Amino acid sequence: MKAIRKVKEVRPSVPTLEGAGVRLRRAFGFENAPGLDPFLLLDDFHSDDPDDYLAGFPWHPHRGIETITYVLKGKIEHGDSMGNRGVIGAGDVQWMTAGSGIIHQEMPLETEDSVLQGFQLWANLPAVDKMMTPRYRDVKSRQIPVIDRKNGVRIRLVCGSIDGVAGPVQGIQTGPEFLDVEVQAGAGFSQPLPAGHTVFAYVFSGQGHFDLLKKTLIGPENLVIFGDGDGLEITGGEKGVRFLLVSGKPLREPLAWRGPIVMNTESELRVAFSEYANGTFLKHKAVLE
Ligand code: FE
Repeated sequence: MKAIRKVKEVRPSVPTLEGAGVRLRRAFGFENAPGLDPFLLLDDFHSDDPDDYLAGFPWHPHRGIETITYVLKGKIEHGDSMGNRGVIGAGDVQWMTAGSGIIHQEMPLETEDSVLQGFQLWANLPAVDKMMTPRYRDVKSRQIPVIDRKNGVRIRLVCGSIDGVAGPVQGIQTGPEFLDVEVQAGAGFSQPLPAGHTVFAYVFSGQGHFDLLKKTLIGPENLVIFGDGDGLEITGGEKGVRFLLVSGKPLREPLAWRGPIVMNTESELRVAFSEYANGTFLKHKAVLE
């Protein structure tokens, strides 16, 4: 690693009401998406009050994107209008490629301790894949490799390849890496990442230093956006730090975005919404992988 990436921006996630009335925190998204191409949105939901989340995300369409749901605590039941359904439980990931279109709902369930904690990331699809056959990759917690480095760093690898280990989700065009990283107090996490890729971290527990300068400790509910370089150096603060680390190759394509549908042109958006209105939105049944 020749050029360690510097922190370009740190911003707190913002309380947001989504779906049918779910209280969550938005790290970025919609009018507040700070050039994180190919990533469009990141929501952080954590609450021990079911009133914050039971309303869920009833029936809605997606086209042209992927949604990646990572649950740490609690359960989310999902189902689509073509009869696919399942439950995303603690430690599980659902990597959903909406492609040409799905109509689904995502409904958090009440569990014994009432706690729900998780994240949803939206990644854009390249123009060439926007109308591909939709697919679900349901990844159970036990399928996610856990890499224990000897120096006090533990990584759960959802997507990408590190330390000679490949994550369970493969073959994504934008070459993303999606890691859940825990760094113990004073330990250092050092990671090469391709230059030119977009890289951000989202802190959800503890505190850490996110670049070599070690000037500021960054704690939970903060999005850390990195400048360019070919590697990262992150150090755990007094109680260690845990964060999502996401990177991917920018698409640099025009964006036409309305609600849950993201295309390249306004006319593609108009087609999508008129198809949704007249019942011709769905083109393919989603494939389960
Ligand atoms: Fe959705």
